[in-house]
Amino acid sequence: MTYSYLTHLECSGCGETYSHEELHTFCQACKSPLLPRYDLDLARQHLDRETVSLRESGMWRWHEILPVLNAQNRVFLGEGDTPLLSLPQLEKELGLSNLFVKDESINPTGSFKARGLAAAISKAKELGVKKVIIPTAGNAGGAMAAYAARAGMKAHIFMPKDTPFANMEESRMVGAEVTLVDGLISDAAKLAGEKAKADGWFDVSTFKEPYRVEGKKVMGLELSEQFNWELPDVIVYPTGGGTGLVGMWKAFDELEQLGWLENTKRPRMVSVQAEGCAPVVKAFNEGASFCEFWEGAKTISSGLRVPKSFADKIIMKDIYESKGTAVAVSDDDTLAAQKKLAETEGIFAAPEGAATLAALNKLVTQGWVKPDERIVLFNTGSGLKYINPEN
Ligand SMILES: *Cc1c(COP(=O)(O)O)cnc(C)c1O
Ligand SMILES: [Zn+2]
Repeated sequence: MTYSYLTHLECSGCGETYSHEELHTFCQACKSPLLPRYDLDLARQHLDRETVSLRESGMWRWHEILPVLNAQNRVFLGEGDTPLLSLPQLEKELGLSNLFVKDESINPTGSFKARGLAAAISKAKELGVKKVIIPTAGNAGGAMAAYAARAGMKAHIFMPKDTPFANMEESRMVGAEVTLVDGLISDAAKLAGEKAKADGWFDVSTFKEPYRVEGKKVMGLELSEQFNWELPDVIVYPTGGGTGLVGMWKAFDELEQLGWLENTKRPRMVSVQAEGCAPVVKAFNEGASFCEFWEGAKTISSGLRVPKSFADKIIMKDIYESKGTAVAVSDDDTLAAQKKLAETEGIFAAPEGAATLAALNKLVTQGWVKPDERIVLFNTGSGLKYINPEN
């Protein structure tokens, strides 16, 4: 039995291929992210969707199309299989009839970052890595620290000094070394990159290693299964580094190649950002194929405070291909949406998750979404992680 049909890594920029049996970061030729590729024809012959559905719950029931080759290297804390919840009150208020939230807040460490880091740390373990380092806007650090602890690796985290308090504490609690940086995630990334080079730490920054996107891909796989192997019409996703958006789009490609989808109609992908840091929205409005660095990034949605994603070209390509759009929302609208979602549906979302509801309000007003379309908001984390003890 083949545990994984992984065959190689492929550069998203120039197409150069790399071996999955060695440790790689990103393409050395053109500095673009590497994406894992699988023998999906072979997988299709040996695997069917019912088999996957009957397995024990969690992210790893999709292991044939995940990168870990040996089951023993999986580092599992219960990630994946999050609920797809209906939003009956909000539906009524917005005049919609098929509104859902994929609630990622129940993942280990309280955010969907668990999925990506579960995949990355498991694969790093398989390739013999002992020390991992990450620059983070918050939740990625906490997730990396937890999975590194469970894998028996050392963890070092660089985060802006105004990162939510919970992110610092959860990282320290599981034994990570935390360095607070006077600056943004881009400044943290510079410092982490230098330390990685100098002291031999493996850098698991978004898209600077090839496997986090595979964990996030599983959100797309689960979603199709939850819609009985169809896909929703619209996915509203809060975009920082873009791993989830790129990962889900990759999932839909792979499901199509596996022949598991009932029809091939793709969702329109909506990228949501904060007005104080909206490089993707700006690029979209200009019809650009890449993002410019956003100066002076500022927003309460710490996960969206990413001035330029390393995967900006893939993000833009996927949005255009999906006939989607990009929407910026103010922090005030995000806070109002957070309260609304909590009061009407009992879901205390992270601001990043609440931002998707703020964006949906705009899309409804503009008539960009139709009343009967199946719309999925992504609540990417728990609001509990943003409670500030100083307030
Ligand atoms: C990191 C993060 C995001 C952004 O995710 P990307 O995949 O990097 O675009 C959104 N919400 C929360 C809560 C996050 O932690
Ligand atoms: Zn390349």
